[in-house]
Amino acid sequence: SSFVIAIDGPSGTGKSTVARTLATRLGAGYLDTGAMYRIVAVAMLRADVDPDDRVAVADHLPFVQLDTPTDPQQQRHLLTTVLPGNGSSGTVDVTGEIRERAATTAVTPVSANPAVRHWLLDRQQQLAHSGRMVVEGRDIGTVIAPDAQLKIYLTADAAERARRRHAEQTSGDATDSALPGSIQPDGLAAVQADLDRRDRVDSSRDTSPLRAAADAVHVDTSTMTIQEVVEHLLELAAA
Ligand code: C5P
Repeated sequence: SSFVIAIDGPSGTGKSTVARTLATRLGAGYLDTGAMYRIVAVAMLRADVDPDDRVAVADHLPFVQLDTPTDPQQQRHLLTTVLPGNGSSGTVDVTGEIRERAATTAVTPVSANPAVRHWLLDRQQQLAHSGRMVVEGRDIGTVIAPDAQLKIYLTADAAERARRRHAEQTSGDATDSALPGSIQPDGLAAVQADLDRRDRVDSSRDTSPLRAAADAVHVDTSTMTIQEVVEHLLELAAA
């Protein structure tokens, strides 16, 4: 039987750290659906497929294989590319690459592509229901696990979200494998502009836009620490 805690919300709310910590505290699995979209984006960049070209991206999906981790303590992301033609394949660790700026830019049009969302739907729904899981994304409470036992919608002031994301980039905490030079910190204004851009596109796309489920519990994290948010969610999960 499955038990799902769905955590949705925009970037910079502390969603990933909160979800991963919560899963660890509960002894549950953790699914980062944003990472799956990011890997597809990296696969397109590596294959020289234009992320904005919906047809080209859809055509390349059959050559992409994902290996998605669900252990909150071990988030290593592998991309396997099957070469068209001779069918040979290669696997690369893209854990660092999926957080780089190029991937962060490419993931917006890639995740707005209905073919990509359709391609990921089944595996996300299956993984979400593979036991006790904390699942994080933009459409978990609405599309991936509408049956979730607990739905959380995390928010934070726009300025606070930008400040957090900027601090993450500057300290390098955002990456698990800190490849030298893999993340160039931007100025605070640039970070805020980038978050605004992503939120706008995520909220306005036709397929599974970022939206709180009607029965989601809204948690404003603007003045809370990660630990405080986690403790609050643990209380909600126990209730
Ligand atoms: O959460 P993260 O920033 O890693 O997600 C990367 C991008 O993937 C988001 O900006 C959003 O466009 C997309 N995404 C999505 N649906 C999800 C998770 C992420 O569209 N469930």
